[in-house]
Amino acid sequence: MDAVSTLQHRPYRGRLAPSPTGLLHLGHACTFWTVYQRALAQHGTLVFRNEDLDPQRSKDSYATSMMEDLRWLGVSWQEGPDVGGPFAPYEQSGRREFYLETWRNLRDRGFIYPCSCSRKDLATSATAPNEADDEPLYSGRCRPRIGEAADYDSPTGVNWRFLVPDGETISFDDVRQGKQAFVAGQDFGDFVVWRRDDVPAYQLAVVADDAAMQITEVVRGADLLKSTARQLLLVRALGLPIPAYYHCDLVRDQAGARLAKRHDALSLRTLRDQGHTPSDVLKVCAC
Ligand SMILES: [Zn+2]
Repeated sequence: MDAVSTLQHRPYRGRLAPSPTGLLHLGHACTFWTVYQRALAQHGTLVFRNEDLDPQRSKDSYATSMMEDLRWLGVSWQEGPDVGGPFAPYEQSGRREFYLETWRNLRDRGFIYPCSCSRKDLATSATAPNEADDEPLYSGRCRPRIGEAADYDSPTGVNWRFLVPDGETISFDDVRQGKQAFVAGQDFGDFVVWRRDDVPAYQLAVVADDAAMQITEVVRGADLLKSTARQLLLVRALGLPIPAYYHCDLVRDQAGARLAKRHDALSLRTLRDQGHTPSDVLKVCAC
């Protein structure tokens, strides 16, 4: 499958889509600055979407801090939880109907099946995976249950997985990273689209929202390249237009480790409190 953007001639719409599960750190700052610059350069519209789907990990106070920190950095947006807009709500926690509709669509088209396997539950997150906690390859044990999907009126109570086309190479041209290719069934397996605790999974929510909000270019960190392959399968299954993808280089610390939210010392809050200016922060990004 070759992903050719069908949205190239539409007015540019980008998105800032952080999860309010911690303070923004230097790595986020670099990525979101790039998101902002891409939208500015194309005289486009920027959407702020609060990806607060995971009730266990999301906090309103973090959402407020994220917006404050981004404003401090100099990033602004035209649509979002704080300013409204034509595609409200801009908090994922308020968009359940969109996700249910997407789930029904996938069920009706025969792409998903219920899975009652238990051991991988903890490995499945509603927030963006990173290199360290990428979803493990699923064995496919519940694949034969694809015929049962039609019996379900709601996704509640079991995990739902997307049946990937084993052996198919999913390729796309990333605006920043160049040609990418991942093999379904090898690089990633049948991924979860709805969790048994009744939370839509990251992949489903992002695809549903990007389409509903008419996003033309997805700009995010390179840790999500493999997720893009999964999302392209969802986009195709749902017959949605394909956005362009731009994956930023990851910012690493001096030891070469990827900066994560848990590095509190490098949160924008801390840097700010230490007297650093936005231009000090952006100097580190080289983006
Ligand atoms: Zn299973």
